Amino acid sequence: MTDTTIMDQKAPSPPAPENARPPILVVNDLVKHFTVKGGLFQKSAGKVLAVDGVSFELAAGETLGIVGESGCGKSTTARVLMRLMAPDSGEVTLKGRSVDAPGGITIRDMRYLLQMVFQDSYASLNPRMTIEETIAFGPRAQGVPMEEARQRARDLLGRVGLDPNLFIRRYPHELSGGQRQRVNIARALALEPEIVILDEAVSALDKSVEAQVLNLLMDLKEQLNLTYIFISHDLNVVHYVSDRVLVMYLGKVVEIGTVDEIYTDAAHPYTRALLSAMPSMDPQNRATEPPISGDPPNPIDPPSGCRFHTRCDHAEALCAKAEPSLHVVANTLHHFSACHMNIPNSGHSAAPQRSSS
Ligand code: SF4
Repeated sequence: MTDTTIMDQKAPSPPAPENARPPILVVNDLVKHFTVKGGLFQKSAGKVLAVDGVSFELAAGETLGIVGESGCGKSTTARVLMRLMAPDSGEVTLKGRSVDAPGGITIRDMRYLLQMVFQDSYASLNPRMTIEETIAFGPRAQGVPMEEARQRARDLLGRVGLDPNLFIRRYPHELSGGQRQRVNIARALALEPEIVILDEAVSALDKSVEAQVLNLLMDLKEQLNLTYIFISHDLNVVHYVSDRVLVMYLGKVVEIGTVDEIYTDAAHPYTRALLSAMPSMDPQNRATEPPISGDPPNPIDPPSGCRFHTRCDHAEALCAKAEPSLHVVANTLHHFSACHMNIPNSGHSAAPQRSSS
């Protein structure tokens, strides 16, 4: 028998673990679709369901890693959270106040709480501004007096490991990639935010520089009591920095849990496939089979039911018909997976059977 009460419910935001501090950010049913135009008259040719009902909670002080293949919606989620683009629907609550809703927190005030570091360190910086002007720009725009904003820029340069006396008058083209990313981090911290979204922030760096910047980020988190959302396609890096991990596939959250639950006991077939695709340093442990079969589906017309069913080795007829919602994994409290095999009495042959009495 199908567990319709579970599958038909709108998925709640999977809660942050109880031993963590209260949620600083709650995301509920966030949706962002993009209209694709085509043909002679540029009529609507469909919609890319980039973010399609994403919900999660972020506890103060934690690092939540977000992973998934390119096009899964992780960066769009970040941009919508930052309000670099407006969501189509859904609610974002920061420190108990709804963002951009009547009586809630304004986008301007939100910038004091939430900042972002992007992957492309060069494109993120204005080539005509010195490093000091770059870091002081945000505070100046928010009304901080010039001298105080400059002093803040110098302090932050020191914090990110760049000598202010050497760097304040330089321009972005005079810096290496690692130095530019340190400036981007300093700029993100200039408004003293509590949450920083790091969107592939170390992906473009050489491995040795990447390790230095990761260690810097960990130190800053400790010193400044920061909370991170760490978006990356690199599962090794996410394992290193995260407390919890959220996995996305074609605009949906398919699994969320602690870093140990995800890396040692993943419940969703897609997460297991991603993990088995991680490069191994052990020559005896080389993958000989591709971990995921088939091409990624077209995000304009995603598969019905479970969006992973066209590539899943465990798919059954039910999977193409009914969409599984996030459901707590057996014997855990905060590990959620959106798979019919995880939902008691779902109708999948591998689902746990529970009597209703
Ligand atoms: Fe595979 Fe079905 Fe689970 Fe989707 S719901 S991951 S298709 S078994």
